[in-house]
Amino acid sequence: MIAYRSFTGGIFETNCYALEAPEGWMLFDAPEGACDWLVKQKIELRLLLLTHGHVDHIQDVARIKQHFGCPIGVHKESAPMISESGFFREFGFQFEIELVEPDLLIEATPSRDFLGLDFEVLDVPGHCPGSLCFFSRENELLVGGDVLFAGGVGRWDLPGGDGELLFAGIREKLYSLGENVVVLPGHGPSTTIGAERRSNPFVRP
Ligand SMILES: [Zn+2]
Ligand SMILES: [Zn+2]
Repeated sequence: MIAYRSFTGGIFETNCYALEAPEGWMLFDAPEGACDWLVKQKIELRLLLLTHGHVDHIQDVARIKQHFGCPIGVHKESAPMISESGFFREFGFQFEIELVEPDLLIEATPSRDFLGLDFEVLDVPGHCPGSLCFFSRENELLVGGDVLFAGGVGRWDLPGGDGELLFAGIREKLYSLGENVVVLPGHGPSTTIGAERRSNPFVRP
């Protein structure tokens, strides 16, 4: 399996994952402190992909863009969260984030190349609209954002959330990926599809 490094930052203890693809390093999500962590790790970042636009996952996007000059990829429904001032204020959040324009708009597709690594991109809404999971079949690795956790699922009570949609998406799109697939979630420890199929209390297969 491909090597990855993880960092957890911010008050919501949000995970991000750096993967070394054939053409360089990519990072999934950008919690507070991620930019400094990359610098300390001596990771020369080539691409930042966002699983979704919640503020705890995008705090360091502008700093990373400024430091590494790398493109930023996001679902079009999450794009306003990183590029429009006042987006979070509208929903009553008091966070101030520095804004950036996304470079790549990403949507569900059976195959897309990122830095020489092939991913299936899955759109699994319900935690929020435009919530993406990135699946590397050859590495049996799923970068899942806030969709499926070890023994849990993402919250569905935030703006744009929908529990039934989330549960159905997990059952239909994630549980079919394979027993041994390792899930790297946005919060908490990693898990496998097999373990969640057997014991996740929220979504039964
Ligand atoms: Zn979230
Ligand atoms: Zn989160």
